[in-house]
Amino acid sequence: MYCTICGSMLEFKSIDKEGDIPFCRDCNKLFFPKVNLAMIAILTNMKNQICLINQKGSNEYKVLIAGYIKSRETLEECVKREILEEVGIDIIQCDYLNSHYYEKSDVLMVGYHALTKQYDFKIDDNELDNANWYDPSDAIGRIREGSIAYLLVEQYLNVLKIKNV
Ligand SMILES: [Zn+2]
Repeated sequence: MYCTICGSMLEFKSIDKEGDIPFCRDCNKLFFPKVNLAMIAILTNMKNQICLINQKGSNEYKVLIAGYIKSRETLEECVKREILEEVGIDIIQCDYLNSHYYEKSDVLMVGYHALTKQYDFKIDDNELDNANWYDPSDAIGRIREGSIAYLLVEQYLNVLKIKNV
């Protein structure tokens, strides 16, 4: 492994509790592991209905809106941008729910709950076949069991139960 700044060969430096971390002596810089980040969002309207989408050509199960974080973007900005791009909806609130590591793509999926006052979709025809609102109890059956979207919707249903909605 080489330093991405000066090209010197990296050594390992023992850091308390972190273990051995690649280190460049010339730049005095530690190279912590880089993590790929994406967000996945449960978008709901004021009636607690959940937005599920079908990506182009994948009609068997429905999914939640998700996307990779762009460079210099925050997770919350990504949630707002992806929802606007994919279904043309402006959100008024965005709260963290949970995160899941997705091994197949080596990405950490960060789950959010996003809220909107809008109901009409303006979908991106290049990416989506459709988008619709579903009552929470109906939504869960349309998502592949065991997927990250499923886990998030399950968690959201528990939140509603606790709040007695
Ligand atoms: Zn260096």
